[in-house]
Amino acid sequence: MCSTERQPVVASAQNGLVQRRRLTVTGRVQGVGFRPFVYRLALHYNLVGQVSNTTSGVTIDVQGGPTQVQSFRKQLEIQPPQQAAIEAVAVETLPVNDCREFSIADSTDGPAVSTTVTPDLAMCDDCRREVLDPTNLRYRYPFTNCTNCGPRYTIISELPYDREHTAMRQFSMCDTCRAEYNNPANRRFHAQPNACPECGPQLELIAPDGSTMSRRDDALEQAAWALRDGLIVALKGLGGFQLLVDARNDQAILRLRRRKVRPEKPLAVMYPSIDQIREHCRVSTMAETWLNSPVAPIVLLPLRSGQMDHPDHPAPSVSCGLGTLGVMVPYTPLHLLLLDDLGFPVVATSGNRSGDPICIDNDEALDCLGGIADLFLVHNRPIVRPIDDSVIRVVEDRIVVMRLARGLAPAVVHSETGSSSVLAAGGHMKSALAFADKGRLILSQHTGELDTPRSRRNYRSSIDDLGQLINITPAHVACDMHPDYFSTRYAATLGTPVTVQHHLAHILTAIADHRLKEPVLGLAWDGTGLGEDNTIWGGEAFIVDAEAYERIVSMRQFALPGAEQAIHDPRRAAVGLLHACFAGRYREHLPGHVSAVLSKQELTVLDSMLAHGVNSPMTSSIGRLFDAVAALLGIFVRKSTFEGQAAMLLEAAAAQSVDSHSLPFALTEEGLTRIDWAPTIDSLLTALARGDYPSDLARRFHSTLAEIALQIAKRSGLSTVVLSGGCFQNGLLLAMCSKRLRQEGLSVYWPETVPLNDGGLAVGQALAVIRNMKERR
Ligand code: ZN
Ligand code: ZN
Ligand code: FE
Repeated sequence: MCSTERQPVVASAQNGLVQRRRLTVTGRVQGVGFRPFVYRLALHYNLVGQVSNTTSGVTIDVQGGPTQVQSFRKQLEIQPPQQAAIEAVAVETLPVNDCREFSIADSTDGPAVSTTVTPDLAMCDDCRREVLDPTNLRYRYPFTNCTNCGPRYTIISELPYDREHTAMRQFSMCDTCRAEYNNPANRRFHAQPNACPECGPQLELIAPDGSTMSRRDDALEQAAWALRDGLIVALKGLGGFQLLVDARNDQAILRLRRRKVRPEKPLAVMYPSIDQIREHCRVSTMAETWLNSPVAPIVLLPLRSGQMDHPDHPAPSVSCGLGTLGVMVPYTPLHLLLLDDLGFPVVATSGNRSGDPICIDNDEALDCLGGIADLFLVHNRPIVRPIDDSVIRVVEDRIVVMRLARGLAPAVVHSETGSSSVLAAGGHMKSALAFADKGRLILSQHTGELDTPRSRRNYRSSIDDLGQLINITPAHVACDMHPDYFSTRYAATLGTPVTVQHHLAHILTAIADHRLKEPVLGLAWDGTGLGEDNTIWGGEAFIVDAEAYERIVSMRQFALPGAEQAIHDPRRAAVGLLHACFAGRYREHLPGHVSAVLSKQELTVLDSMLAHGVNSPMTSSIGRLFDAVAALLGIFVRKSTFEGQAAMLLEAAAAQSVDSHSLPFALTEEGLTRIDWAPTIDSLLTALARGDYPSDLARRFHSTLAEIALQIAKRSGLSTVVLSGGCFQNGLLLAMCSKRLRQEGLSVYWPETVPLNDGGLAVGQALAVIRNMKERR
């Protein structure tokens, strides 16, 4: 590699003024323009040597004047490329050699140490300008990218990150692209997916019968016309297929919902620009930063009231009565060109059948989405692994990750160095898995519900795939305590798993994310999770320190008549709750709007289940408490069609109120402190009978929970509080609890780089094994 020219350095080598160092840089340093950056930096400091990608990261061999070498190293760490994240720089001294220039070496197969995979990056401003510039070579080219942007994780089949290890290996670069690729001064220097209309992937519009309708730009324009006409277009995006439909067209959306069997769950909307989002939603500075970032996730934003009549406003069937809308902006040139042509927002939802992973393959899409989409806008760049759009919301200028996927996954959490490596299997509903090794904890993308054969296959292959990609062969396996989770059963096939209690894992996830060591109070407020006493937990408070934990407080339990059925039917939770308060006389207290929607027969069955304790598991879940209250207040009195529906509507109702009261609650001691919500429920029912607005009561219920959080914190005597678990996806609840706790001088944390719902469980499970957590009695 080293040859000819450049005299000065060698000359000074003779008189000992030259030093040579090898820097091994680990972290997210591949696929982010790191080598070109190093190259330019080395030239700047007049250094010779070389830089190469290895499986351990990037290795830099530099020699030159001591001051220059030092400055080089400093600069490297101070100002790495935007998308890079340096974890460590190991330095070795080497004997000076006769190297005469600085070069970028081909990747070598170095020692088997893992590096971090770079997530996919949203289109950068330079590429955006190019595809919109009629004089540019890449005008209207949907696969434009550079070292600062473009696909990474979705096209890498193995490390190191080089073109032949990506889905781009089948496209050979034309002379122009190759010249860019080889020119250190070019923005596309070593941009692995570099392509142009001449040599790169192309679009094709396909009918459901598989026949080609048009190609290239014609395909794009025809797809745009189809969308204007209210048709459903399956678009092969970055991490898989998306289903697109005009967000303003109620009929078209209802057709999509019917075909996808997704009656009410909110749909995400892609807007042509942030300015257009602002017309319909309240966009905070933080939210805007995220929308514009290389992650470009779906951000949950509050809808402005009174804008429904705006001509481009999404139809009511998009968000189904929730006060929020999940929005994003185009993050690939393909999306940009399409949305730019349209000029109005489109629904952009995962291209899958309910419960299955997102489709990535053209034939697979025709097969699975054939009954849903009217047209397929596809291309010939393969997608190596499926990945959905990430979903976040902003609370108090911090983020809540609701789905860790494109742009965020795989996520790296720095953890303590454990004795050996761990695979954590995660949960069941919002599954995701984690690997831990040598102080790093890596969480996979969201792998969805583990209920269908396809999703289970996807989950299994994600374990193999990520393990191979980051080169970890785990010595230990961790999983949830629930024996029926698919992840638990699968973990058992990999070894003898350590089971970790669900809510403890939720707390440990936050602890891992923020590297908290001192004892913390953890509030795990959640839907369901199996407890150590075999009841359903979900309103738990733990004290957790470096090696032990103790559950100190839990919510009062109530029965869920019909078990699993009650989880999907808030009316049953309401009946169970009232039965706990009033036993056999509960029906006298059941509001009319609940009893009216339960048949005599249903009530008789519920009565007898509760009276005899048959198929009525006890729960301390706050998620179920939300369900019950939503039903009692008349906000949601039917079966839910998606997880969390009742709670989301209760949050939406509360968000409309400015009521500042909170309601009474009690504490009881039964070895464990129980929070008794009976006084709360009593006040709610009284106020409801008095004619108070349900939205005000919903707000009071939220405030009461914030007071409960504070009470528990005070009893614990600790000053650091961690909030985790699915209930805190409720932005209002999270903000109110956090504010109340901080008002009293407490520090509040929740997981930020990983989800605080079950999508983050694996992180906590892994930490439990690393720390070898023991219960303190
Ligand atoms: Zn770019
Ligand atoms: Zn080209
Ligand atoms: Fe959970």
